[in-house]
Amino acid sequence: MKRDPDCIFCKIVAGEVPSQKVLETDEVFAFLDIAPVKPGHVLVIPKEHFATLLEMDADLAAPLHKAVRKLAAAAMEATGAQGFNLQVNTHKAAGQLVPHVHYHIIPRHEDDGLTL
Ligand code: 5GP
Ligand code: ZN
Repeated sequence: MKRDPDCIFCKIVAGEVPSQKVLETDEVFAFLDIAPVKPGHVLVIPKEHFATLLEMDADLAAPLHKAVRKLAAAAMEATGAQGFNLQVNTHKAAGQLVPHVHYHIIPRHEDDGLTL
């Protein structure tokens, strides 16, 4: 499994940097965002290091999707949200700051004022 020694998310997967883990499987790791844009903001990542969605092994799409559905439902339940956004910022121009592919799950309430 590829890992980047300088990657903050690889360090989180390895337990070298603490996180509030919400799910872990053989392939997937999920944790609360350190700077949530809304309560319940979760990041879902492959454990293996891929800089962006474009490099990611396509076989990981299914386990990631499964985790996203489970966690989005849990985040909505926990926050009383009526919906959620699923966002994958890809490359710096689109706002990607951490170069390890990650899916943002952002719980949403009607008229919560957030524009993404
Ligand atoms: P991006 O802008 O790359 O799509 O999103 C990166 C996300 O990672 C941001 O929402 C940021 O708050 C989150 N983040 C960055 N460093 C850490 C960290 O060390 N721990 C956690 N839990 N989240 C982080
Ligand atoms: Zn990484």
